Amino acid sequence: MIECCPFLLGGDSILEPLSFPEFEAGGPSASSLLQHPSDELLVCLFCSESVPLMQKDALLRHMLLDHKLVIADVKLIVNLPGYMVYWKGRFLEQPVTDFCSVIKTNSTGPVETQENYFLLCDVLPEDRLLRERLQQKRLVRIINPTLFKKAALGQ
Ligand SMILES: [Zn+2]
Repeated sequence: MIECCPFLLGGDSILEPLSFPEFEAGGPSASSLLQHPSDELLVCLFCSESVPLMQKDALLRHMLLDHKLVIADVKLIVNLPGYMVYWKGRFLEQPVTDFCSVIKTNSTGPVETQENYFLLCDVLPEDRLLRERLQQKRLVRIINPTLFKKAALGQ
């Protein structure tokens, strides 16, 4: 009986490495498919505040209250993280007023109660182009995921 034990133990240790890599390979790839980690975070256009994509309303509220910026037709933007990254870059180059319509609230009231809000919408040709481009990218992603990956990697 004692002689059998080393043999059995040896058998077990051979089986373990065989099953382990399978489990490992299934784990990360399955979760990365669900998460799309690269598109997952929304970053504020004006500061470093960021939220998961699921909580985009919280970030939109933050931009409205803290920076007085409204993005028109947010629901129609197919890739909001991509959209935000684009405008964040542009706002670093040029003032917001170059791109946004200004909405004055309480414009008939006293000056101290008036507030300017900025509206980012597709009246601006650059914004419309961006929205269209993001839409086309998504189509490529649906029709041909391999092509999309190559495009994303710049190949
Ligand atoms: Zn902010």
